Amino acid sequence: MPSKLAEFEKHWAQRDDPHSFSGVWRFHDLLPFAPRDKCVTVGEGQTLLHQSDGAGKYAGMKLGRLFLQYEGMNPSGSFKDNGMSAAFTHARTVGARRAACASTGNTSASLALYCSVTRLMQAVIFVGSGKIAFGKLSQALDYGALTVQIAGDFDDAMARVQEITKELGIYLVNSVNPFRLEGQKTIMLRVLEALRWETPDWIIVPGGNLGNSSAFGKAFFELKELGLIDRIPRMAVINATGARTLYDLYEEQGVRWNEGKPNLPAVDAYCQDMDATGRRASTIASAIEINRPVNLMKCLRALQWTNGVVRHVSDQEILDAKAQVGAGGMGCEPASAASVAGAKRLVAEGVISPDERVVCILTGHQLKDPKATVAYHTTDQQQFNEVLGSRGVRRAAYANRAVAVANDKDEIIKAIRLYGSNM
Ligand SMILES: *Cc1c(COP(=O)(O)O)cnc(C)c1O
Repeated sequence: MPSKLAEFEKHWAQRDDPHSFSGVWRFHDLLPFAPRDKCVTVGEGQTLLHQSDGAGKYAGMKLGRLFLQYEGMNPSGSFKDNGMSAAFTHARTVGARRAACASTGNTSASLALYCSVTRLMQAVIFVGSGKIAFGKLSQALDYGALTVQIAGDFDDAMARVQEITKELGIYLVNSVNPFRLEGQKTIMLRVLEALRWETPDWIIVPGGNLGNSSAFGKAFFELKELGLIDRIPRMAVINATGARTLYDLYEEQGVRWNEGKPNLPAVDAYCQDMDATGRRASTIASAIEINRPVNLMKCLRALQWTNGVVRHVSDQEILDAKAQVGAGGMGCEPASAASVAGAKRLVAEGVISPDERVVCILTGHQLKDPKATVAYHTTDQQQFNEVLGSRGVRRAAYANRAVAVANDKDEIIKAIRLYGSNM
């Protein structure tokens, strides 16, 4: 027992020091690019690894073998804060006054938050029209970012922001920025730390622009090189069926990192065909609705280091998995649930065995995209069809339906007796 209250306070006494407080900067030894006195933190990376037997059972795993890494618990509600603290720190060291990104929503929410909290830079964010989830757009607007809504999709916004930042000398924080990936490596460090530095068998991560998967591979490669771990986990990157460039190239066409000489003509031909046929990414999981992942090459390298696999899952599988995650008490947005849907798929295929140790990354918070959640649980067929039916989703097997009841005490009590549990 502590003999004085001051002893409790000791635990907090260093909270102003990012190197004690931040879930990114406490691993500063592994992020040496950042000057110690310049590290920017808004409290990112205070995230937890939970054993989840509900999601584990759903995926077909044995009890105690599936873990969820809740990156939605970051200050802006997604894993992007891990990378933003690092990129933002670098931007500060080079004296940037403005920082920009193209975003499906979470990168812009994160950048806008860092800018408004620290007042070090102005945020300029580029979003495509119509696709951005409301939770994410509301953050950028609320935090006061200059928000440019382009008539086009994410890939269009990405192309424009690269041109314009170059021309105007604005610091670019998209995950083409290598410092973002440095910060995102710490997600794996915290996973390992939570497992008492025992390497899990699998890391499963949704794949969009492929920054996370690239960063994870790099983290494990470096830890192994440094002799801090003796084994690298396998990685599974999960695409949405409607946005499966990585899957097509890696699993269908057999494109590999190949010691730095990947089959680039195959990649170019794939992208040209996408343009020629007008094929565009389409999925409820807007955070991974991406045609041309900017970190494709780095991800191929990470897949080699981790003996990785790639799968794609449908919007139906994503939403069912999302409902199972939500029922465990700490929900996620649709893109995140692709990891759990991917675990289920890989267990069913026999690639993952039910007693292996699996960590699924939940990349974004449940409240980012409430429209998708409510539409899944609704009793209103029209609402279901508008949001989900148009994407080929046919059923909501795990819906928790609201009970409609008259404004009458006896009727309400009857409904509670009928539908409530006896817990
Ligand atoms: C950005 C994002 C992704 C995709 O991550 P990449 O690093 O681009 O592959 C997945 N889920 C959520 C919630 C995101 O915000």
